[in-house]
Amino acid sequence: MRTGLPYRPCPLVLAAPSGTGKTTIAHALVESFSQFVFSVSATTRAPRAGETNGVDYDFLSREAFEELIRADRLAEWAEVHGNLYGTPHRNLEAAAERGEHAVLDIDVQGAQQIRERVPDAVLIFVFPPSASALWRRLTARGTEDLSEVRRRLRAAKGELSDAVLFDYIVVNDDLDRAISRVHTIVEAESHRPHRALDLPGQVTRLRSEIDGVIDESRA
Ligand code: ADP
Ligand code: 5GP
Repeated sequence: MRTGLPYRPCPLVLAAPSGTGKTTIAHALVESFSQFVFSVSATTRAPRAGETNGVDYDFLSREAFEELIRADRLAEWAEVHGNLYGTPHRNLEAAAERGEHAVLDIDVQGAQQIRERVPDAVLIFVFPPSASALWRRLTARGTEDLSEVRRRLRAAKGELSDAVLFDYIVVNDDLDRAISRVHTIVEAESHRPHRALDLPGQVTRLRSEIDGVIDESRA
């Protein structure tokens, strides 16, 4: 049974104030659904305990990162919390070649650059359910000290006003529900006419099949 027309996959951008849960959602999508692939960003940040080079990030020196910018190898880049982060063009190209949705876990500045340079992308702002949940998640993660947690919370106040610039807003209250909402959005986006592969060809083929059915009905 045909469930949909063959479609061009869309890059999926997840942005949110730090601690909201976008990385958790991004990894869950990739693990649960074969058509999603994580876009490994380049960064000048030092690896945290448990992070693997080439899996969580490509960890680079500032010089190596600046060389990527000069060579125009990045689809977007931004300075976030004092470090440089960027999405290599190659991640988007490789996902498109394999027919997969690239999942970009990036900040709101990077999301706006993708909006301008990759019109095909779907931008989702992940919204924290409450200030207390954001505090709990940032402190429970244990990757930042308290002054850094406060700094990220202050930054969150500004980032929230960018939510209106996104295509969708998904509240990350219950994790499974949030993942399911994101998946549903991408499913719906995949059924938009401009994403169908060779729609004129599909229409032509179906028309000629209809002619065949009409002819048979006369026989
Ligand atoms: P971000 O990438 O947005 O900075 P993370 O994905 O690192 O955030 O999540 C921050 C913390 O919150 C992690 O410890 C994660 O396990 C937890 N978390 C994520 N989503 C939820 C949720 N829906 N409910 C409870 N905890 C969550
Ligand atoms: P962290 O250092 O906690 O992993 O990430 C800090 C912030 O940088 C997060 O908001 C994360 O989404 C963002 N980030 C990660 N990769 C990229 C990227 O490639 N580009 C941009 N613009 N931001 C990124």
